[in-house]
Amino acid sequence: MALQFHSVPVTPFQQNCTLLWCDVSGKAAVVDPGGDIERILAAVSERGIELEKILLTHGHLDHVGGTAALVKQLSLPIEGPHQEDAFWIEQLPTQAQMFGFPAVEVFTPGRWLQGGDSVTVGEETLEVLHCPGHTPGHVVFFHRESNLALVGDVLFAGSIGRTDFPRGDHDTLVASIREKLWPLGDEVRFIPGHGPMSTFGHERASNPFVADKRFG
Ligand SMILES: [Zn+2]
Ligand SMILES: [Zn+2]
Repeated sequence: MALQFHSVPVTPFQQNCTLLWCDVSGKAAVVDPGGDIERILAAVSERGIELEKILLTHGHLDHVGGTAALVKQLSLPIEGPHQEDAFWIEQLPTQAQMFGFPAVEVFTPGRWLQGGDSVTVGEETLEVLHCPGHTPGHVVFFHRESNLALVGDVLFAGSIGRTDFPRGDHDTLVASIREKLWPLGDEVRFIPGHGPMSTFGHERASNPFVADKRFG
């Protein structure tokens, strides 16, 4: 398999910041650098890989809080999320204050993503799905060759994302999961924004929010 991954839980919210790398080129992307960037950079150098970009699933502090600091240090390009999450990124300083995080700077992604786009990591390509509901501009990254999805806060093992934030919507989130994620296949393994990995098939069978039997 040419795409490798390793997750580093960061911030007090234990967000799964994930390194993705192409083992042919050694080029890597960091997905959702929420904070604790020394730990992320240590994981990078341990593996002898080279960061080439930052990928973001959505604009919440625990997923993007380390972005501006990383860019300052390494001047990496930022891809994602969907532009509908711009308001969350603009409010980062307020989010940081609210949650008692250290001060965080606002940034502007060089590339906003849309459903149907693709992103590259070294020689590997991931598909972009727009999955609103938790936030309006949430995207998911899918690597078809290895059946691996990075779903941020859309779906968790045994749960789904919160929808009680501004512009969150439960029905939209459930539709994103059932109409965009499930068609990718039961065997797809996913890395959620928090907690352990699972598969779409396992969640379709047992997740209390989105199991197939709920929708009979
Ligand atoms: Zn979130
Ligand atoms: Zn989160």
